[in-house]
Amino acid sequence: MNPELWHTEKYTQNCGFTFKVKEVLHTEYSKLQRLDILETYDFGRVMLLDGLIMFTERDEFVYHEMITHLPLFAHSSPKSVLIIGGGDGGSAREVLKHSYLEKIVQVEIDEVVVKNSKKYTPFVGSSFDDPRLNLIIGDGIEFVKNKENEFDVVIIDSTDPFGPAEGLFNKEFYANVYKILKDDGIVVAQAENAYYDPKWMMRSVNNMRKSFGKNVTIYQAAIPTYPSGMWAFSIGWKGKHPKESFDQKRFEKMDLNLKYYNPEIHKAAFVLPNFVEEILKQNS
Ligand code: SAM
Repeated sequence: MNPELWHTEKYTQNCGFTFKVKEVLHTEYSKLQRLDILETYDFGRVMLLDGLIMFTERDEFVYHEMITHLPLFAHSSPKSVLIIGGGDGGSAREVLKHSYLEKIVQVEIDEVVVKNSKKYTPFVGSSFDDPRLNLIIGDGIEFVKNKENEFDVVIIDSTDPFGPAEGLFNKEFYANVYKILKDDGIVVAQAENAYYDPKWMMRSVNNMRKSFGKNVTIYQAAIPTYPSGMWAFSIGWKGKHPKESFDQKRFEKMDLNLKYYNPEIHKAAFVLPNFVEEILKQNS
């Protein structure tokens, strides 16, 4: 009889998240990172990069809906979107639902992630087959340099701030994102979590503030398989506060049939627990 196989993602030296694995479907080392695709009992297919959960089939909808629809419905008239990272295709899948968009560009550094997502997790990866998506394999940090006024919404769907993604949390990078955004532009970035990684969360917020000034905050979503289950997204904007600028008419017209995001969640996501507000205040 095969021994049981379990995977543990350590959150600190003393705690983590453990689940039983049915089968390891694929393991591959790219030039940048190790990728594993697992078949699991409770979460369906799971992608790990360097041992960390990128998404699970069961709850990926929360992250992907919240990192895309919220900024898109907060913008008054988006036409162009840039996704940085997001090599699994989940963010692209949601962005592509906005059929009125004229330009969708994605810059992902590791084609091994894209290739394996297409093959093993098509529920996210098949979005790469859509001809409306212009996928560029390259470094998002380099891509945003020396460009101005090109996108309405920038979505930074990155790995944790180590290795190739470290620079995606830097002030120089956000300064370039500020420039690449048009007037009224909005940037959203995955920003770790307030329980285990408040420093990383604040690194994103504070470095964004260096370009966007006071127009930066956090919104949150409940993602059971990410550390703490409560995930933070940093958001910076040039026009109106994204909590107030939800486009109800466009939302109703599109009739998206989503699983997490809705008009009430759009506003509620900006309501932060006191301890998160404290972190934001103390570090501003
Ligand atoms: N939701 C995920 C998470 O935080 O668990 C992120 C998923 S997505 C797979 C993250 C992607 O960011 C990876 O495919 C990684 O290769 C890509 N990435 C990391 N650094 C990058 C960079 N500098 N430019 C473009 N893509 C990058």
